[in-house]
Amino acid sequence: MPMAYDDNNIFAKILRGEIPNDTVAENAHALAFRDIAPKTPVHVLVIPKGKYVSFDDFAANASPEEITDFMRLAAEVTRAEGVSLDQGQGFRAITNAGSHGVQEVPHFHLHIMGGRNMGPMVT
Ligand code: IMP
Repeated sequence: MPMAYDDNNIFAKILRGEIPNDTVAENAHALAFRDIAPKTPVHVLVIPKGKYVSFDDFAANASPEEITDFMRLAAEVTRAEGVSLDQGQGFRAITNAGSHGVQEVPHFHLHIMGGRNMGPMVT
């Protein structure tokens, strides 16, 4: 059964145009915008426009078109931000899920982070 989606989460409000965002790129099924509290010089969030709570919800329930658009937009962001491997020095793409993942916003999102060495992964 799909996880319950909270229509009042902040990214749902961004998608409805109720609060502003700093858009980096967009396509039919996904939106990329700057994190409001960037932890790295490049810190962009990529979200599907559909209502998916987390990575596992998206991976299990999104259509192939939604998944393709999401992945292509994430790749477009790395190029637009100058961190893709063909033009820069790379990036980290992470998603937090649930309480152990310390997910704050219950709408699936991928953090694209770069512009400096990320250091080791936190364990
Ligand atoms: P999470 O812990 O993976 O859910 O991360 C949520 C992210 O959303 C955090 O890095 C926040 O800084 C970011 N965030 C929260 N509200 C906004 C907003 O209104 N615009 C852009 N980013 C936001």
